[in-house]
This record gives sequence, structure tokens and C-alpha cells, in this order.
Amino acid sequence: MTITHHLDDATLMSFAAGALPAALAAVAAAHADMCPRCRREMLTMERLGEAVMASLIPAPLDSPEPATPAPGSDAGPGGDRNSSGPLGRLVGTDLGGVAWRWLGPGVWEHRLALKGAGKLRLLKVAPGHAIPEHGHRGAELTLVLRGSFSDRTGRYLRGDVADLDETVEHRPAVARTGGECICLIGSEASERFRGLLTRQWQRVRKF
Ligand SMILES: [Zn+2]
Repeated sequence: MTITHHLDDATLMSFAAGALPAALAAVAAAHADMCPRCRREMLTMERLGEAVMASLIPAPLDSPEPATPAPGSDAGPGGDRNSSGPLGRLVGTDLGGVAWRWLGPGVWEHRLALKGAGKLRLLKVAPGHAIPEHGHRGAELTLVLRGSFSDRTGRYLRGDVADLDETVEHRPAVARTGGECICLIGSEASERFRGLLTRQWQRVRKF
């Protein structure tokens, strides 16, 4: 597995500081479990963050609570490669056992339970299909678990993560010749096209 698309520095820093919304932290942890480079970066930033905080914040008078670990950091420096890793805990070991919900032609979704902010889901796209062009109201992390997709920002293979903010509009498409693509997607908020479609649907129903 050769990973070419990684978490960006701002995401790594937020993750290390425990400041990422839960949905994004879950995807970041799953990517780091597959990616030695991002795992290394997270640990470096975590140490850096602790050192900076220690220099800025005076020691508390009361006995301190232990620091809250960054989500997913229990995967350890070497990463947990078996089903007890972040990905296994999130989606199980067998993607074939997922109960998919049909969203539209060639597109299925499975929402994952999440404690905390954001939306976490699996998305499956059949060969030759695409997600309609859309933007986001906040950050979104998309990790490829199976197959590949392409959009204006590049081609994403298994293990690659698309780290997009609200300024990027894209239309992820799965090649007709390849197999299906399954991604783990963490979002801060819903996609913008959903609101638009809903408004159009409501308008149509009035007449
Ligand atoms: Zn990476």
C-alpha cells in the first residue's frame, strides 16, 4: 500500500491537541493506523504541544486530572494492525457485513454511531458512478478503505485521505473499469448540496 495523500499539518496539530471534532478524529486515527508518516507526525506534535503547554501554563495547585489522550492515540506508536485498531473498532473487520442504505444510483451509505461532534459514515460508490458536485459547511476527511476515486484534487487509493476544508467543492468519481469504492468519511457538518436538493424538493412539492 503506497499512501500519497496525507492529513494536513493543521489537522495533525488539532488531532494531537485533542481539538478535532469526534467524526474527524475518528477518520484521522484510522488513517494514522494505516500510515506510519502521519503516525510519526502526530506523536511529534503531541510532544511539542505538551512542551508548549507546560511552558505556558503554571502547575495547578490541586492534584491535576490526567490529560485527556487525543482520540485514537491508544493505537500506540507502532499502531495496532489487527481488528482492535481504530478502523476495526469503527467498522468491524468485514466490510461485506455492512448494512447499506441506498442513497441514489450507485451510491450507498452506512451511518456509524459517534459520541461527540460531527457525522461519521461509510460510503460505497459503484464503478462508473460519482457523488454530485458539492461543498462542505466545515472540514471533511475521507479515507479510502477499498478501491479508489478521483476528483479535482487528485486520485485517491486505499489508505489515502482527502483532507478538505469548506473552500473546496468536488465531485468524487469512481472509474468504470475499477471495482467499487468504499470510504470512511468524517464531516463537521452536512454537505452543501444536500441543503440545495432539499430546498428544490420542497419547492417542487409546493406546486
Ligand atoms: Zn498519512
